[in-house]
Amino acid sequence: MVDLQGQYLHIKREVDEAIQEVLMSTEFIQGSQVKSFAEALSKYNRGVNVTPCANGTDALQIAMMALDLKPGDEIILPVHTYVATAEVIALLGLTPVFADVDERTFNIDVAQITSKITSRTKAIVPVHLYGQCADMEPIMKIAYQHKLHVIEDLAQAMGADYTYADGIVKRAGTMGIIGTTSFFPSKNLGCYGDGGAIFTIDQVLGEKIKMIANHGQKVKYQHDIIGVNSRLDTLQAAILLVKLKYLDEYTRKRNEAANYYDKNLSGVPFIETPFRAVNSTHVFHQYTIKIRTIDRNHFKKYLEDKGIPTMIYYHIPLHLQKAYRREGFNEGSFPVAERLSKTVLSLPIHTEMTEDELSYICQTIKEFHA
Ligand SMILES: *Cc1c(COP(=O)(O)O)cnc(C)c1O
Repeated sequence: MVDLQGQYLHIKREVDEAIQEVLMSTEFIQGSQVKSFAEALSKYNRGVNVTPCANGTDALQIAMMALDLKPGDEIILPVHTYVATAEVIALLGLTPVFADVDERTFNIDVAQITSKITSRTKAIVPVHLYGQCADMEPIMKIAYQHKLHVIEDLAQAMGADYTYADGIVKRAGTMGIIGTTSFFPSKNLGCYGDGGAIFTIDQVLGEKIKMIANHGQKVKYQHDIIGVNSRLDTLQAAILLVKLKYLDEYTRKRNEAANYYDKNLSGVPFIETPFRAVNSTHVFHQYTIKIRTIDRNHFKKYLEDKGIPTMIYYHIPLHLQKAYRREGFNEGSFPVAERLSKTVLSLPIHTEMTEDELSYICQTIKEFHA
């Protein structure tokens, strides 16, 4: 699905040097590279305030702590997403309120949001799934009308751009009050371990976020608010500083692979290629097709036997997961997410794909007989 070794070999000298520098400095925690990386990532995301942290799940938790969300508060999120989004909501004693997703974009169905709002609703967490922005303009409008916070989960969409009706373009993670992301190795900007970051467009909130991520302290051993221990390792920051320089090139390569798939698979009757929203660019964290008329497992196995890995993100929607199942949630509660969970299939997509590989995958797919 990914080729992290091939990617590393292309930047090996730079990365090895960066790692050596940290080892020699022995500044393993909060070394200068952490600050340099935060600055570089801020610049990449058009000046947003950046706080690096330990992983993308922590980023979500810190975001919710920083907004003073309290037990009983309701948070609206899409039901078709990675579990982390719902996990931290539940951990903090908040109530996850699921909304179904749009069949074409896989992102939260904006029309459903309004119907889920109650007097206890405090925030909406759109997830920019597979690398394409949720429809942020109407989401921000609803949030404004109902005085709700918007926390964007951009773990899969670093670098994606969303265009408003008036032509203004904004980066994923800089539209809501807070954006949260992950540097898990397979993410579009991945480190060599765990890592994450919190973005905010509010500088004052940014200071609070920095404190929460570091034991609630601004001055050492002086704890003004309750925090957590969630820091990005200096080693990971040093690696990310190198990799960030290549992110646009990586995004371009992912798009080239996606375009190749689009072109070669669009005529295959049992496949629906990914929908491209007009108001968002796509960074193709995943290239996710929908399987029609044929048996997905049979097809998946066929590809596997030909040496082609595929993945299903996600094969159980959150409301049917044991940990998140609540009274009243059944098969049929979120029909679109349930249908997607039975039809989606992600094909290999990464920065090192060759035309030969893409051609082999497409040819093999076309030769499938149900
Ligand atoms: C990866 C991911 C996360 C969590 O990131 P970690 O760094 O693994 O904790 C959260 N949300 C989404 C949508 C993700 O894809």
